[in-house]
Amino acid sequence: MTDLFAPRPTPRLALDGDSRSFPVNRIFCIGRNYADHAAEMGAAAEPIFFMKPAHSVITGAAVPYPPQTADLHHEVEMVLALGPGAEIIASGTGVDLTRRDLQAQMKEKRAPWEIGKAFTASAPVGPLRLGPPPKTGAITLSVNGESRQSGDLKQMILPPAELIDALSRYFDLAEGDLIFSGTPAGVAAVSPGDTVEAGIAGLPSLTFTLTGA
Ligand code: MN
Repeated sequence: MTDLFAPRPTPRLALDGDSRSFPVNRIFCIGRNYADHAAEMGAAAEPIFFMKPAHSVITGAAVPYPPQTADLHHEVEMVLALGPGAEIIASGTGVDLTRRDLQAQMKEKRAPWEIGKAFTASAPVGPLRLGPPPKTGAITLSVNGESRQSGDLKQMILPPAELIDALSRYFDLAEGDLIFSGTPAGVAAVSPGDTVEAGIAGLPSLTFTLTGA
């Protein structure tokens, strides 16, 4: 049998200092993994899980501002990358872009979050670094040079190993899966034209500018 059409290519992430690439399978996300962010959202500090499609990954310096929102928020997060055996083989810096207005509407209706979280280009990710993820160190985000988020990886309620254990109870984690591991306090809105700089101590940084409207 032949395909009706060519399948979309698998999204791939660059590896820092390595010519190979990381093919993306799924994107799992954890919410409320930093107590100070859970508090600013008026939520209990009890981690929850959601997903974004693999094709929401975007690399490069330009990220389109999505439609249907007037309140796009940044959330800087350490991204864990899984290899065979669901082992963490690399990590990097990502931003969980969120249409906060739509997410809030869905929360109010007790409905799923996809329209707030799983849109095209909602997952900017920088190059991954092979090896175990850092356990402590600064996790920061600035917009147009102004500091917005400043936390430490050690604040994670579920650190990477426990996060894998928790997710594994519900999902058959596999090679190619990415895990967005949650964001510290300071999430806020960005606008077209804004430049976002996200950094995690010991990992490659991520910089992008929001384009269009
Ligand atoms: Mn998030």
